[in-house]
Amino acid sequence: MPFYGPDFARLQRQDPEVARILLDELARVRGGLQLIASENFTSPAVLAALGSTLTNKYAEGYPGRRYHGGCEVVDRAEYLAIERARALFGAEHANVQPHSGASANLAAYAALLQPGDTMLAMALEHGGHLTHGSKVNFSGRWFDVVAYGVRRDTELIDYDEVRDLALRHQPKVVVCGATAYPRLIDFAVLRDIADEVGAWLLADVAHTIGLMAGGAIPSAVPYADVVTFTTHKALRGPRGGAILCTAELARRIDRAVFPFVQDGPQMHTIAAKAVAFGEALRPEFAAYAAAVVANSRALCEALAAEGMRPVTGGTDNHLALFDLRPLGVSGAEAEHRCAAAGITLNRNVIPYDPEPPSATSGIRVGTLCVTTQGMGPEEMKEVGSLVARVVRDRESAAAVRARVSSMVAIHQPYPSDL
Ligand SMILES: *Cc1c(COP(=O)(O)O)cnc(C)c1O
Repeated sequence: MPFYGPDFARLQRQDPEVARILLDELARVRGGLQLIASENFTSPAVLAALGSTLTNKYAEGYPGRRYHGGCEVVDRAEYLAIERARALFGAEHANVQPHSGASANLAAYAALLQPGDTMLAMALEHGGHLTHGSKVNFSGRWFDVVAYGVRRDTELIDYDEVRDLALRHQPKVVVCGATAYPRLIDFAVLRDIADEVGAWLLADVAHTIGLMAGGAIPSAVPYADVVTFTTHKALRGPRGGAILCTAELARRIDRAVFPFVQDGPQMHTIAAKAVAFGEALRPEFAAYAAAVVANSRALCEALAAEGMRPVTGGTDNHLALFDLRPLGVSGAEAEHRCAAAGITLNRNVIPYDPEPPSATSGIRVGTLCVTTQGMGPEEMKEVGSLVARVVRDRESAAAVRARVSSMVAIHQPYPSDL
């Protein structure tokens, strides 16, 4: 059972309760369609690094200057991860220690801002992220946050509004990046705006970094002073975060990650990040990134043909957002009906949504998982019609589930003999 390390049989004997959970979760993902836009399936090699004894090692500090002894071996893992990340993105500096996307952002803010400073970021209700200034998050509590959004008519980022707000509020940091924005972000325009007001540009490309790595969409790295990202979404690595920055900011970013925000790095995760960066450097990954976008467009067209309205009219990346009001079904109800048919997706607010986040008018779908499973545009057409069928008619759940089962049976995320 290599997915759980060499000793899965031992785990089964010693703690069958936990072993059962691992097997049930594997059965769950094997038994249905995973359309959550932020999820992916890591390779067995990434899982092997995660399940390694590197989890035991304390290595406060950075390679070559640690506060613990015996780090000469794990140092090699971190050097490798840093070198591969820099090569992959053409970045001057990389910090691979953040435990998550949220910790990467906390560190980036700590490097660039003091509490009470002003930052300009995309509103959560318009597709931004919790850590971009939401009141219930540290970012909204500790900083003076000015939010920009999308236009009501086009549902695209209103760059004129961003410029006006920047000129009026003189933020120290302009933040871009989103969790539910299906279009490309114009980093060049945002760079100009940041320069006009002397602000840093922080691009949180947690979702799309893998598409940038594979060359399927333009990279934020040449434009932003700091780029934060997660390694577990489009990049298809272990759950974690990372930061790229200019040489000028290298020391500030490193000191913000450790000792300001975090203590001991997770060396097993860093080794797994190195594996994922290595995979992303291969030509197959560029093909994967291109296929993700092609699948996303195909799924978006299929759902639009069924009467769901794509927010912004389409997609340029791995995700799409749909307004379900034409079908008279809430996002929450659609999520529920899909779940009954073995299709996992999430409800999502759409821009200017009249419904609260608990109900929403929309759903968000993504193609990272299904593309990793080897599905293509033909399958996306069928997935689109299955989703629409069960959203419209809850009575069809059993029939849709049967069809989903036969689709995933020939496109398994992990080999079934493992
Ligand atoms: C997913 C995401 C994060 C948070 O990542 P975690 O690893 O869950 O903390 C931050 N920013 C954006 C834009 C994201 O999409």
